[in-house]
Amino acid sequence: MQCKNHPGVEAIDRCAACAEAFCPNCLVEIQGQKYCGSCKVLAVKGQPIAVQATMPCKEAGSALNYAILGLICFGIILGPVAISKALGAKKMMNFNPRLTGSGKANAAIVIGIVDILLFIVGVLAKVSGNI
Ligand SMILES: [Zn+2]
Ligand SMILES: [Zn+2]
Repeated sequence: MQCKNHPGVEAIDRCAACAEAFCPNCLVEIQGQKYCGSCKVLAVKGQPIAVQATMPCKEAGSALNYAILGLICFGIILGPVAISKALGAKKMMNFNPRLTGSGKANAAIVIGIVDILLFIVGVLAKVSGNI
């Protein structure tokens, strides 16, 4: 088994990502896994390559649902719920770059604010109508 980068040099192990054989000079150990030069860049950036699939953040989706529901009714309750859920989702996404849905979270915040504003406008309209 020879190093892929250095023909003639005996390889000691395989890269955890691309499974090519490399010599000790080429392999870098990250979180207990050995990576070659080109794979280590990716491994350092985020998770090991094998589990780099993204997944949608559920919190962002439910935040958006609450926000949209708040447009129809109970905006004063659902608006803040949507905003706090969206902020929670954004935190989770910062913590875990594999989560997607920041667009949904942002939309939930904007619609959540609209929920509250619509409620206030509705109350004001009622109040001024009564005078
Ligand atoms: Zn590799
Ligand atoms: Zn080598």
